[in-house]
Amino acid sequence: MATSIRLFVDAALSEGAELPAREGQAHYLSGVLRRGRGDPVVLFNGRDGEWAGEIEAVGKHRATFRATALLRPQSAEPGPWLVFGLLKRDTTDLVVQKATELGAARILPVLTAHGQAHRVNLDRLRAIAMEAAEQCERLTIPDVAEPLNLPELLSNWPADRTLAAAVERIGDAPFPARQGGLLVGPEGGFSAAELDALRRHAFVEPVTLGPRILRAETAAIAGLTLLQVGNIQARAFPI
Ligand code: SAH
Repeated sequence: MATSIRLFVDAALSEGAELPAREGQAHYLSGVLRRGRGDPVVLFNGRDGEWAGEIEAVGKHRATFRATALLRPQSAEPGPWLVFGLLKRDTTDLVVQKATELGAARILPVLTAHGQAHRVNLDRLRAIAMEAAEQCERLTIPDVAEPLNLPELLSNWPADRTLAAAVERIGDAPFPARQGGLLVGPEGGFSAAELDALRRHAFVEPVTLGPRILRAETAAIAGLTLLQVGNIQARAFPI
């Protein structure tokens, strides 16, 4: 089956609804993909499910769609929260994209003592999450939060949500299934003070990702993958 163009929109979706494209989508559809009036699209907005639709009108800067038929009703997409020490730009982009594909419900960059980056462009990260959600057929986009310092993040963390803290060289703590969150350090790892702070919180559970020292982005991807084990549900696809 050919993959359809799947687009996130802001407007409400219902049968027959005509709605505007988001900024940038008109150019993408007409300029990049050479699509025009009547061409099919798949639309979702994180609230009203996934809809078959078509391009009603498209110009250089503006486009409108019409929603025609509900393909999938909205459903909750529970997933772990990924907390990661802010990385260099390209690596941060990669982590946000992969975390979205691997089902993270929230993505929370943190500022850490050994991190090499201190600023994020949130709009850019949110756009990356949106694009990844379009591509991987999610019904929701993970929320990408403003970066906090690690101590702030820990003091705001819901006490009933276990945070699996990936720490290298800690023996053989098995990776527990179905955690509420995953914490991965920056390129330079956690500082001694940060490790102490982590140990003081009862919701933190240190975990190992194996005997090798992984790059931070590998640790995020591997950890999120492990959190899916035993928790993967196939979607029913028509044959
Ligand atoms: N520079 C550090 C390694 C940092 S690795 C050193 O050589 O000591 C970056 C992050 O990836 C770590 O903070 C940790 O969260 C995660 N990580 C890497 N390998 C890991 C492993 N084997 N087990 C658990 N976490 C790991």
